[in-house]
Amino acid sequence: MALLEVKDLRTQFHTDDGAVKAVDGVNFTVEKGQTLGIVGESGCGKSVTNLTIMGLNPKRNTVSSGQALWKGEDLLTAKAGRLRDIRGNEISMIFQDPMTSLNPVLTIGKQLVEAIQIHRDVSKRVARARALDLLKAVGIPRAEQRIDDYPHQFSGGMRQRVMIAMALINDPDLLIADEPTTALDVTTQAQILSLMKRLQEDFGSAIIMVTHDLGVIAEIADDVVVMYAAKIVEHANVFDLFNRPQHPYTWGLMGSLPRLDADVERLTQIPGQPPSLLRPPTGCRFHPRCPYVMEVCKTKEPALLPTARDPNHLQACHLDEETKDREAAKLAEMAAS
Ligand code: SF4
Repeated sequence: MALLEVKDLRTQFHTDDGAVKAVDGVNFTVEKGQTLGIVGESGCGKSVTNLTIMGLNPKRNTVSSGQALWKGEDLLTAKAGRLRDIRGNEISMIFQDPMTSLNPVLTIGKQLVEAIQIHRDVSKRVARARALDLLKAVGIPRAEQRIDDYPHQFSGGMRQRVMIAMALINDPDLLIADEPTTALDVTTQAQILSLMKRLQEDFGSAIIMVTHDLGVIAEIADDVVVMYAAKIVEHANVFDLFNRPQHPYTWGLMGSLPRLDADVERLTQIPGQPPSLLRPPTGCRFHPRCPYVMEVCKTKEPALLPTARDPNHLQACHLDEETKDREAAKLAEMAAS
């Protein structure tokens, strides 16, 4: 049984202007110890997908349907108390800005000790020892002294390490990380990603990594879901996605991926803006921005289907396979030159 199986997940937000379909028929699975990357531009539904799974969307104006089977149990129909239990003990989340998750008036140690004691019936002394071990595990130097510092005394990268320590308190089976490195400089970003990879090996947790950055995906993911306008447009293992991408949106993301050894002039941009999810385009939602658009794309929505070569590589595009392979080969050639 998969650790997490998401089936036909849909989330709508009701606004004064109408229903915003923020997630529209999303399917994926996460296996034990696996890292799934979810990539796409802002507003494509990647964060809302995870908030829906965790039951964290605002209740007042949100309607969700489908299933999110956690070890077989549907999180969408689970009682609030059961969801809180799962969130505290089995699934943890790490967000982009650690300052919004840390209490500025409490020391790091006090916050970790409190969090440990909420979930475990242990004394303060035992909880503090556990907190110290976690701070050491995430690479906080001089952890014995720094445990009594306040969040503002830590750099952005160190605060994110503290958040990772916080997320690991209960040895979660799944860690959902939403843009955890976006606010960090490139060097710190690389350190945090390698820390997450190391911790995954040590703790055995699965990870869902939500990011707009294909570079992050290349570093850490086993499988990749590419989302556009609330839908999955491509789903493949990371090697196939980078070696044989099959969707024009993925090609666009790859063309805009900076490389240290390439000319800046070779970077390309995806033209236009992501569409409004209040009234998304008809047919293929990417068609107003797609350089390969055909008449059929404007009226007929492409289904997410396996490629002829690989039943595990899914893509939603009307282009023929020959064109897709030719464009993918061009991209690979560019990346190699
Ligand atoms: Fe472009 Fe058409 Fe493919 Fe959509 S279906 S990505 S518009 S070629």
